[in-house]
Amino acid sequence: MTDLSREAMAPAEIGPNADGTALLIEWKDGHRSTFPPRLLRLSCPCAGCVDEMTGRRTLRESDVPSDVHPLAIEYVGRYALQFEWSDGHRTGIYPFEFLRRLCPCPACSAN
Ligand SMILES: [Zn+2]
Ligand SMILES: [Zn+2]
Repeated sequence: MTDLSREAMAPAEIGPNADGTALLIEWKDGHRSTFPPRLLRLSCPCAGCVDEMTGRRTLRESDVPSDVHPLAIEYVGRYALQFEWSDGHRTGIYPFEFLRRLCPCPACSAN
């Protein structure tokens, strides 16, 4: 895992992407991450989706509807986002560092 700069973990702007199908985060270092909603839902780090003892993901892909999307997005302090999902789930807190490491773009996936 590479070290991220403070700017790389700080969002400058958060909102829907151009066609409204994904969440776009523009980071203070200029990088842009586009997250398909289902990827974010399936990556939920809460205790209901990940076994706290083993770190194993207990949430299965088949548990999540293909059209899942956020109904609301809230800041948690200055370090994380919390999503209210269309499937009723809302306990996941996504730290910005976690989100930056989750960036699915080819440049980030490569390392
Ligand atoms: Zn969860
Ligand atoms: Zn990226």
